[in-house]
Amino acid sequence: MTAQKSAQIDKYTQFVSRGFGKDLAKRLGLPQPAILRRYSPGAPLVEGPVLVVGHTSGADSVASVLLSWGLDVRRHATPKEKLGAIVLVLDELAHPDQLSAPLLVAGASVRDLARNARVVSISREAIASDVPEMAAARNSIDGIVRSLAKELRAGATANGIVLANGTGAADPSPVSAMRFFLSGRSAFVDGQFLRASGEGSTELVDWDRPLKGRVAVVTGAARGIGAAIARTLARDGAQVIVVDVPGAGDHLASVANEIHGTALQLDITVTEAGARILDHATQRYGRLDIVVHNAGITRDKLLANMDASKWDSVIAVNISAQLRMNQAFLASSHFTTHPRIISVASTSGIAGNRGQTNYAASKAGVIGMVRSTAPLLAERGGTVNAVAPGFIETDMTAKIPFATREIARRLNSLQQGGRPSDVAEAIAYFASEASSGVSANVLRICGQNLVGA
Ligand code: NAD
Repeated sequence: MTAQKSAQIDKYTQFVSRGFGKDLAKRLGLPQPAILRRYSPGAPLVEGPVLVVGHTSGADSVASVLLSWGLDVRRHATPKEKLGAIVLVLDELAHPDQLSAPLLVAGASVRDLARNARVVSISREAIASDVPEMAAARNSIDGIVRSLAKELRAGATANGIVLANGTGAADPSPVSAMRFFLSGRSAFVDGQFLRASGEGSTELVDWDRPLKGRVAVVTGAARGIGAAIARTLARDGAQVIVVDVPGAGDHLASVANEIHGTALQLDITVTEAGARILDHATQRYGRLDIVVHNAGITRDKLLANMDASKWDSVIAVNISAQLRMNQAFLASSHFTTHPRIISVASTSGIAGNRGQTNYAASKAGVIGMVRSTAPLLAERGGTVNAVAPGFIETDMTAKIPFATREIARRLNSLQQGGRPSDVAEAIAYFASEASSGVSANVLRICGQNLVGA
């Protein structure tokens, strides 16, 4: 492990990952978070053979795709052989009685999963017009994957792809979702689902530089998650415009320099923010393709102690600015080439959080906005999605008192906080051309945080 990589791992995880600390944690039954496998260009997609479970033509097609990626594919498990992944293709389920055979086959191989392995299910969405037996079978995958994710150890994750009506298991968007889940890009995504329809194309995708030639803007990019998003989109080939308030101008300029992008000092709450971004993008690059709404603030207070300035500022930055900017982007003829909008929500917007009625309102609002904006993007061949980070190691979370932070960090299936790059990787995945059939999704990046409800 390089010094830089080990500095990014929290001290507790470093302590229990070797020698005396490892033995002590084992004896006392303390959490032993794994050092997660993260993507780096050129690294293997999966470390070890991939077992494809399922006997449908969809399973055959998925196996062919995996073979075409140069992976070592198995259709039957060899006892005790370490596996890099299990892909469970359940695309023709009609009754819950059909679950036991494939699940028991997969179950028998779970013990053979290597560290940081992946389990990915591919199933169909349950819809109201399904007969009840079929809807029950399809929906049961939700419970299976979320439970299995909680059973896996050593950095392994389980996630699922839900095929929209009429979509094949090996259509472009499910394939791109499968690649995301198998790779180190999804290190901190666990127990989650992506819904994919058949649109898109993987024919010409350069998997190492999937955003080549695309023009992206990232708000709140002077530091933290926003800076990581800008770096990741640039690494994947995009031209990136980084936006932040004038007060963060120095940091913003250094991010822009580092990624050979351009900086725009702008408070996104001003009425003309959308027009300013469009002007900048069209003057420099001729168009805008990808918008990442990342800028966000917290002003925590119990509702009983809330004041207007705390409430209004959070709503203004976290949701109203995005709504206004989206209107400007959608009205522009320069935002029309398979456009992508990705908003950063939060698990607080899904489960609520004490002291955060204002913040949770804004982040739940983002989720509502994403769902109703999807048809508007679809009209121009575009998509809009949200990510909902859980506990991410940033300057913001470093300020949380030690004991509270330590608890928040461990309350997920991977028993650790995520990194800004984990959020960034998911955003880059949504931004890719290959994800054209993935819209109106909200993907939690939280290590399967116990969000409660
Ligand atoms: P951060 O405070 O480190 O960075 C936010 C950036 O947004 C800052 O550079 C800030 O200057 C900028 N910004 C704020 N108001 C702005 C405005 N009006 N105009 C332009 N820029 C503005 O926060 P972070 O932890 O990197 O969070 C980034 C996003 O992720 C936020 O939307 C946040 O709500 C969300 N999020 C973070 C976590 C976490 O654990 N850190 C968890 C869930 C969601």
